[in-house]
Amino acid sequence: MGKHNSKLKPEILDDLKSNTEFSDAEIQEWYKGFLKDCPNGQLSVEEFKKIYGNFFPYGDASKFAEHVFRTFDANGDGSIDFREFLCALSVTSRGKLEQKLKWAFTMYDLDGDGYITRQEMLEIVTAIYKMPLVLIVCPQVVGSVMKMPEDESTPEKRTDKIFRQMDKNMDGKLSLEEFIEGAKSDPSIVRLLQCDPQGS
Ligand code: CA
Ligand code: CA
Repeated sequence: MGKHNSKLKPEILDDLKSNTEFSDAEIQEWYKGFLKDCPNGQLSVEEFKKIYGNFFPYGDASKFAEHVFRTFDANGDGSIDFREFLCALSVTSRGKLEQKLKWAFTMYDLDGDGYITRQEMLEIVTAIYKMPLVLIVCPQVVGSVMKMPEDESTPEKRTDKIFRQMDKNMDGKLSLEEFIEGAKSDPSIVRLLQCDPQGS
């Protein structure tokens, strides 16, 4: 206790300020909270799943949390440091639509080859369908969750529908361009992406 300096060094603060949409005070506040949850400054996938589970207590968010973890862990070293955490948070909560979609693309593109295959899409959509109570923190999606259209009633159908809408050249995989164009014309995907645990 008290051993840890919970104030960020000025040069680190400057770096974070220029790479995120947060103010000095907000960054310091997030840093305090981050150190409280992970005193060693590194967030492991297990801890991350626990935190996510608190936001989605009635669904099974663990699989989805693993995918989100991967996108937060920018350098892929298996843990999230404060910089990775704050940069991801900035994009998901305050980023422009295009930034959010790029971020989402990296989540769906499991093997990172620059394309989303049907199998990759199905994997993420299945994880999302395990969290029925996404609507608790995300009231703006209630309508679409309650009245799930027949052609979106299973992850397979939803994936097929997404591919029908997005896979313009019909090669069975989505490029970043197809993904961004398609998501812009499908508000239901965008709504899901704009849902962040802070419930803003
Ligand atoms: Ca990392
Ligand atoms: Ca891929």
